[in-house]
Amino acid sequence: MPAHLLQEEISSSYTTTTTITAPPSRLLQNGGGKLEKTPLYLEEDIRPEIRDDIYDPSYQDKEGPNPKLEYVWRNIILMSLLHLGALYGITWIPTCKMYTLLWAFFYYLISALGVTAGAHRLWSHRSYKARLPLRVFLIIANTMAFQNDVYEWARDHRAHHKFSETHADPHNSRRGFFFSHVGWLLVRKHPDVKEKGGLLNLSDLKAEKLLVFQRRYYKPAVLLMCFILPTFVPWYCWGETFPHSLLVATFLRYAVVLNATWLVNSAAHLYGYRPYDKTINPRENLLVSLGAVGEGFHNYHHSFPYDYSASEYRWHINFTTFFIDCMAAIGLAYDRKKVSKAAVLARIKRTGDESYKSG
Ligand SMILES: [Zn+2]
Ligand SMILES: [Zn+2]
Repeated sequence: MPAHLLQEEISSSYTTTTTITAPPSRLLQNGGGKLEKTPLYLEEDIRPEIRDDIYDPSYQDKEGPNPKLEYVWRNIILMSLLHLGALYGITWIPTCKMYTLLWAFFYYLISALGVTAGAHRLWSHRSYKARLPLRVFLIIANTMAFQNDVYEWARDHRAHHKFSETHADPHNSRRGFFFSHVGWLLVRKHPDVKEKGGLLNLSDLKAEKLLVFQRRYYKPAVLLMCFILPTFVPWYCWGETFPHSLLVATFLRYAVVLNATWLVNSAAHLYGYRPYDKTINPRENLLVSLGAVGEGFHNYHHSFPYDYSASEYRWHINFTTFFIDCMAAIGLAYDRKKVSKAAVLARIKRTGDESYKSG
């Protein structure tokens, strides 16, 4: 990156946390009845950069028969081989060197952050800002995770929020657990995903050189960061056997990160309470939060997609928020958007399922 861009990056940064406040009083004056029918939520005004990750309840599925499923055999075969390798890898754990297990766990954690703190909270939702060194770290971590490049991931994810639970949602959970978990990656996209996804505003992603760079060199970069490096390091650095390195540190670790992320789309759309909005499917699921380092507070997240913590709370089963806060403490993350308690409580009162426990 040229020096002047780096300088711009640094001079435009500041370190405060933006707190999103309750709806302004002029709207409350309209009377409770009118406010309750407001489909889009007013807190979003604090983050004018993007609108296309906000739920649009006016969009509904079109009438008519669904197109026939078209299988993508290449993906089906590769995913099956990966999962067979990962399952076999479990049997190699007891004979693994301790360093290899630590390495696999470290690689899981970093690559998960590349998805949660990177592709998700930073690039899909712009819920905080990151300076260049952090963005470089996140793009490397994201490449380690191999879940499609950030541009594609964020495009799919914005469509998932805006057209949630319709055929324009790439992993529409109304099509069942398996489809929303992994099935959507094994078939051709529904025409509505292409049609509506193509209309999303992705100009911020297209303008970011780092994302263009990742997209351009994605295949060799993934080969290196997701497969070669995690296998090579244990074998070369502490004399682990090649099968242990490949099966545990690479196949098993990669499959665990994939499934932990996919559970957010499947389990967290099916199992759990809906204290913030009972009219939508996403739910609060602590187990998913544990595996997906903080992304299981999914009813909250779909209600307030611009909150950098993806949860009402900060460090509660949320390693990603802890990480972003640490980055903020050393000045690499800033402008973290957080919804105010008052706005959250107002939303709970208006649309919650009454499972919310205060205090
Ligand atoms: Zn979701
Ligand atoms: Zn999201």
